[in-house]
Amino acid sequence: MSTTTTPPTVKTRICIISDTHTRVPNSSKTSKCAYREPFPTADILIHCGDITSTGLETEYEEMLDFLKQAKAELKLVIAGNHDITLHEELYLKRLKSKHKNVPEDVGKIREMWMGEEARRYGIVYLEEGTRTFELGNGARFTVYSSPWQPKYFDWAFTYPRNIDRFNPSQGLLKQNPANPVPNHGHLDIMLTHGPPMGIRDETFRGKEHVGCDHLRRAVERCRPRIHCFGHIHEGWGAERMDWKTGRADLVEVDGERVVEERGVYLDLSSGGDRPLKWSEETMFINASIMNVHYRPENAPFVVDVDLPTKEST
Ligand code: 5GP
Ligand code: MN
Ligand code: MN
Repeated sequence: MSTTTTPPTVKTRICIISDTHTRVPNSSKTSKCAYREPFPTADILIHCGDITSTGLETEYEEMLDFLKQAKAELKLVIAGNHDITLHEELYLKRLKSKHKNVPEDVGKIREMWMGEEARRYGIVYLEEGTRTFELGNGARFTVYSSPWQPKYFDWAFTYPRNIDRFNPSQGLLKQNPANPVPNHGHLDIMLTHGPPMGIRDETFRGKEHVGCDHLRRAVERCRPRIHCFGHIHEGWGAERMDWKTGRADLVEVDGERVVEERGVYLDLSSGGDRPLKWSEETMFINASIMNVHYRPENAPFVVDVDLPTKEST
């Protein structure tokens, strides 16, 4: 008799937010925002970029103070197009002169995010690339991160729409991107600022899908457990993709409950009502806290998911 062994996994809680634009959770006792204190506790906290409005040192300080006191073992953060001072090269070359009122010290800002103090609080600032992390609960998982999105006005971390940063090149003569998204089986979580084409990426004005085609191909190729992002504020919400049928189901959300619980709680673990099928499904989450009017009216997502362990890899 043959036995199939499923690799061991461990249920892990991930709290996901994006597009805070320097708003911390509301601390008023009478607040009706879901994004309010006390902020959810999780094993991992993820911020998908647009931390600030214009990348000022004072804005980062405020957001770092919030992230430091947030209860999570690991806090993964990427920049977005508004966090201009974290795109050092572009900021120094061009954006600094455009934003003359904000001559920020990029070296100091980098240190604020990547230095010893941030690390002591579990904060890991991620650039474009793939990294593996371990948690105290035994989880060992791999993350692809990227702050880059298709160009829309003159902000940071943008590429022309025809450029593919995410997939290995098909043509022999074409250059491979520096940090392509890994193939399926090598990635658990994708964390980008912008959405892939067609998923939680429709604009309020114009009703246009503005996600990235190349990112869509990359996520179809690698099929992570979770792909979280923000950027298109009005696309807040979650969709479960079934890769066999190519159909994505919107996750129904009860607005009142979400406000009461201060987050959208989704149990995708094997103990939940509808466990996420590894290899067959990906949960897409647009976690923009700000709505299209830049008001912090959207809720954090709090997702329980089975992650591989040190033993399974
Ligand atoms: P942000 O400036 O915070 O990056 O994006 C805020 C809003 O700008 C989004 O919610 C969306 O309405 C709009 N937006 C961002 N990127 C694009 C884009 O590539 N195309 C279009 N049409 N609108 C965008
Ligand atoms: Mn934004
Ligand atoms: Mn953005």
